[in-house]
Amino acid sequence: MSKKVLICKDTPGGMHCSMVIVGDEADTDLIIEAGLEHAVKAHELEASPELRRVMRTALKAEEELYSREDYEDRFDMVHVHEHPPETDVDDEAELRGN
Ligand SMILES: [Zn+2]
Repeated sequence: MSKKVLICKDTPGGMHCSMVIVGDEADTDLIIEAGLEHAVKAHELEASPELRRVMRTALKAEEELYSREDYEDRFDMVHVHEHPPETDVDDEAELRGN
């Protein structure tokens, strides 16, 4: 299954952020939700319908991430899953840490 990425740099408030949220194409909604949660916690944005719409527009195929000129190894990749294993608590800690 192809993957989708949400690159925080491409969303409001995230221009200096290294967060990248990755998930299966079928889990697009989860990626958006994780992106919203991150934007609220890390960038103090409001989880508005408008922001949700922007996030959805910013969503890209995973291959696009690696081919972009501003791709950096230091991007923090956070993976979302429909049925999160218990270790996903770590992912939430990462979200808060940024
Ligand atoms: Zn961010």
